[in-house]
Amino acid sequence: MTPAPKASIDRSICVDCLTELLSQEDRRYRYPFIQCAACGPAFSTGWIDDGRADPSCPACRIEFETPGNRRHGFRWISCKDCGPVLRFVSEQGTETQEAALARAIEYLHEGRIVVIKASGGFHLAVDARNEEAVQKLRRRKRRPHKPFAVMARDLEWVERVAFVSSEDRAFLDRPERPILLLPGRSAEIAPSVAPGLSDVGLFLPSSGLQVLLLREGPPLQVMTSANFTREPTLREDAEALRMLGELADGVLLFDRAIVEHSDDSVFRSSSEGPIPIRRSRGFVPKTIELPFETPPLLAVGAQEKNTVCLAAGREAHLSQHIGDLESAEAFARFLDDIERLKARTGIEPVAVAHDLHPDYRSTRWALESGLPTIGVQHHHAHAGAVLLENGAQAAIAVLFDGTGLGEDGRLWGGEFFSASYESYRRLGHLRPLALAGGGAAIRNPWRLALAAAIDAGVPEEVLPKPPERAFAALAARLQRGDSFPTSTGAGRWFDAVAAMLGVRQQVSYDGQAAAELESVATTAPVDAYPFEIRAGSPFEIDLRATIRALAADVASRTPASIAAARFHETLARAIEAGCHLARAKTGLGDVVLGGGCFQNRLLLSRTRERLEASGFRVLCAREVPPNDGGIALGQVAVAAARLRSRATLATEA
Ligand SMILES: [Zn+2]
Ligand SMILES: [Zn+2]
Repeated sequence: MTPAPKASIDRSICVDCLTELLSQEDRRYRYPFIQCAACGPAFSTGWIDDGRADPSCPACRIEFETPGNRRHGFRWISCKDCGPVLRFVSEQGTETQEAALARAIEYLHEGRIVVIKASGGFHLAVDARNEEAVQKLRRRKRRPHKPFAVMARDLEWVERVAFVSSEDRAFLDRPERPILLLPGRSAEIAPSVAPGLSDVGLFLPSSGLQVLLLREGPPLQVMTSANFTREPTLREDAEALRMLGELADGVLLFDRAIVEHSDDSVFRSSSEGPIPIRRSRGFVPKTIELPFETPPLLAVGAQEKNTVCLAAGREAHLSQHIGDLESAEAFARFLDDIERLKARTGIEPVAVAHDLHPDYRSTRWALESGLPTIGVQHHHAHAGAVLLENGAQAAIAVLFDGTGLGEDGRLWGGEFFSASYESYRRLGHLRPLALAGGGAAIRNPWRLALAAAIDAGVPEEVLPKPPERAFAALAARLQRGDSFPTSTGAGRWFDAVAAMLGVRQQVSYDGQAAAELESVATTAPVDAYPFEIRAGSPFEIDLRATIRALAADVASRTPASIAAARFHETLARAIEAGCHLARAKTGLGDVVLGGGCFQNRLLLSRTRERLEASGFRVLCAREVPPNDGGIALGQVAVAAARLRSRATLATEA
């Protein structure tokens, strides 16, 4: 019997293999695809369903057959004689093996852009210390601001450019090799790597190939998913080669198929432990335990940061990061991943859970699937995911994000619920903000600043002048009381405040204004702005007094670092006040914090501190992101609970 690999997950190169890789006497010295039974990309290269024969080369064959050998019985081992061939393609033609590696390294040193194949996708790499080169990558990729991740040669290099705790060090070194967003500390990283942000995303090499590239090439390299904006990870060599010229100066490939695409996983360092941002490579396909039995279920997730989830019995299988379903490529991957997940788990769903938003492509697919459907409100799903990860049954849930559709057909996102898996009650919410200009308001925070200012009775002259002439006309429409769709989304209030403070007027990626607002905020203690709570069912956190006080700070030229921090402090206190009301109404003492806004380290830590001081127990996302990447898991939890209670009712009847 051939022992199965330890687990079918991707694991970074182990210490033993690393030692061999770097020792001249070893027969796998400088062999980029070195691995053993304890390490390697088991998931993305599809070892589990690979019916390949035993190793063919004599030397590997001996290792395979020798009991006690680290590679005994492990069919996926290889060496220079029998493994994949490394190939570098550029305008100079094609080079192979050591020559290919040497040329790729030379290109990186020269500030050129290189596509590098990894086990689950392709990276675009460039020297992260070369500002000109990073700017060139931004131009070619048409990605003006969204931060790039940086692979560092080793922990010493991470420490040179970021503030790292001992927990952070251990986390970076995990076999999943996650990207960790850390507070930056040096000018050594080119400014264009993460413009406007205080954090930089850093991670360590995962494979033998990456170890060699980082040891002999630049010690800090941008490694960003090689796709055009909004598309998920590439899978085919042919697609990568099409990037030559247009995007990249060279392509480093090898002849081993990518069976499962997987992006790098992303977490954010915080004093309370890493905050999950994207759960993908290394974490998928680990199963997640459900608190109760479920019939076979599929959940199709949200529109952006989409993931899907299959569940049966007490196990949930959350897919890798799929992407933004607006892009045709991501939607194709969505369809493909559902089939793949079914094949891998053997689960044939009897029902499908989906978001209530009729325009999400995932929702439309679910409604046309022919399966019985279960609609799950967006923020209820957020709450369900966090409840599940913490093994809780019911809690007050504070759900702050950009936007999700509510049961009343309006856009929600600054919500206070009492929530269990099966149901929820909307106890309160932030004051709705007019989306002045509809979709244009999402891309132009200055429009939200204007709406917030006029709503609060602040003269628009206080606002920094936006880059568009539409300002006066829009101000007139708002003054006149023209109706616009509204949203209670906390993310929209972050946008409005970022624009009021002149931090960010227009955005090029989701969450940009909020991320930059957090980045300018001081972490020193500050006073909160005033706010009011308007009683009712649901209650409303009225932020008009906040906006007036903030406008006064703007008028008196208070530094943005202070005003931004005061806004964060205000939200933390508003959450605390809302939770007091919720506790009085429900008797619940646990508080779930969910939604993308809780990726904000400052908001999360201030909120947690206030709540804990008031005797609440705070439950946060642990491994599944609080953002829309966790929606599919939450949908499974809610739908399973509903099916269970229906079954109970049926039995009782
Ligand atoms: Zn190994
Ligand atoms: Zn071999």
